[in-house]
Amino acid sequence: MSLDLPFDNSYGRLPERFYSRLEPTPVKEPELIALNIPLAERLGLDPDALATPDGVAALGGNLLPDGADPLAQAYAGHQFGNFVPQLGDGRALLLGEVVAPDGARFDLQLKGSGPTPYSRMGDGRAWLGPVMREYIVSEAMAALGIPTTRALAAVQTGEIVLREAPLPGAVLTRVASSHIRVGTFQFFAARDDREALEALVQHALERHQPDGETALDLLDGVIERQARLIAKWMGLGFVHGVMNTDNMTISGETIDYGPCAFIDSYHPLRVFSSIDHAGRYAYGRQPDVAMWNLAQLAMALLPLIGSSEPAQKSLDRFPDLFRSAWSEVFRSKLGLTSQSDGDDALANDLLNAMAENQADFTNTFRALGTRHARDEFVDPDAFDTWERAWRDRLAQEDTTPEDRLDALRAINPAVIPRTHRIEEAISSGVSGDLAPFHRLNKALQTPFVLSEDDSDLARAPTQDEIVPQTFCGT
Ligand code: AMP
Ligand code: MG
Repeated sequence: MSLDLPFDNSYGRLPERFYSRLEPTPVKEPELIALNIPLAERLGLDPDALATPDGVAALGGNLLPDGADPLAQAYAGHQFGNFVPQLGDGRALLLGEVVAPDGARFDLQLKGSGPTPYSRMGDGRAWLGPVMREYIVSEAMAALGIPTTRALAAVQTGEIVLREAPLPGAVLTRVASSHIRVGTFQFFAARDDREALEALVQHALERHQPDGETALDLLDGVIERQARLIAKWMGLGFVHGVMNTDNMTISGETIDYGPCAFIDSYHPLRVFSSIDHAGRYAYGRQPDVAMWNLAQLAMALLPLIGSSEPAQKSLDRFPDLFRSAWSEVFRSKLGLTSQSDGDDALANDLLNAMAENQADFTNTFRALGTRHARDEFVDPDAFDTWERAWRDRLAQEDTTPEDRLDALRAINPAVIPRTHRIEEAISSGVSGDLAPFHRLNKALQTPFVLSEDDSDLARAPTQDEIVPQTFCGT
């Protein structure tokens, strides 16, 4: 076919037990609902070609672009703490890797592309809701400066998938610097397959840490990347919702936008996922869960590292790495350019006051330095008390108030994808109106600058609008 993508499929050159080779299952009538033109250009792909009938057929899984080598990746994982020795891509296929003009390598994956040997009881399909959600949130994360998988395109399939109800089917084209997960290592560790572990370590180092040489180097790199990533999530009030080890990448990118949500009214133990009954993946538990997941990675790599002592030493670095990344994030959220001993306490005091006063996470930080911040608090005096301490601290800085306000507005977003807005976009989309979806995506491309027309998107949900629970996107 005519669609020419610059494929170079390094994962497909790994041993055959790493994956199952198969083609996407065609869909009835692929129809493009979103194409990410800046991302296509970043990858060195021609957006016009992707929008042609052949391009759309490829994005729906009906046509295989030249050079693609579709395969379902094998992986294992701890789901809510229980080890499942075989998960794998049950509704996704890696089409291949494209090498961008600057040499960077990206996986192109179709999600919702039909059954694979790893589908278990699932149908291998996705419905429009989770596809829209992942498109909206992953692109918002990218615009917010958070390492993340991206969304290149979304197509409707013209088919119905059966969930609680018959729903329109869709396929997402996901872009990632790789789809290697903690669970990919666990898959081979559980099979005592040292040779495969060795090959996977080398492959992961080549892709994500070209200076690294050993399994221990890789573990250290993942620990550092995840510490930085989780600190950034915390700075946005982001709750991933399903931090299973198969949903934690080696690259340090956020992956899997199933039941995720941004906190509206702040509470440190906010949970949204309907299946997270014990709050294992609550906002404030995310650093501890990351540490637990990294310990599983260390265990999987142990045969290569040789002894537990160096692995333990690496793991023990995580809490400090996280704390310093967290301090950096929150210092900049408070407009501080210098470091001082009380800074963490100052940030925590604000968070505690926010929790006691049901303050909206995003809007409180956005309003810092303006008259409006106190309005976010049930008891505005609580904010005033904190603000006096903040002002005292700011007096030690040489920034001008104007520069500080600019800096605050460049780090504290005006708009994040609020769950009620995502749900609104999805329900409109299901009934054929994609305008709210496109409007939300557009506003989220520039989350630090909000136009007057979009000010409603920054508003916290009213009591009637609150969406208390989110659901895994199957
Ligand atoms: P997730 O909760 O998205 O991380 O998925 C966990 C596992 O379930 C992965 O192995 C998925 O591929 C698989 N899975 C989820 N939904 C489906 C589906 N509709 N069909 C087949 N497999 C699925
Ligand atoms: Mg997953």
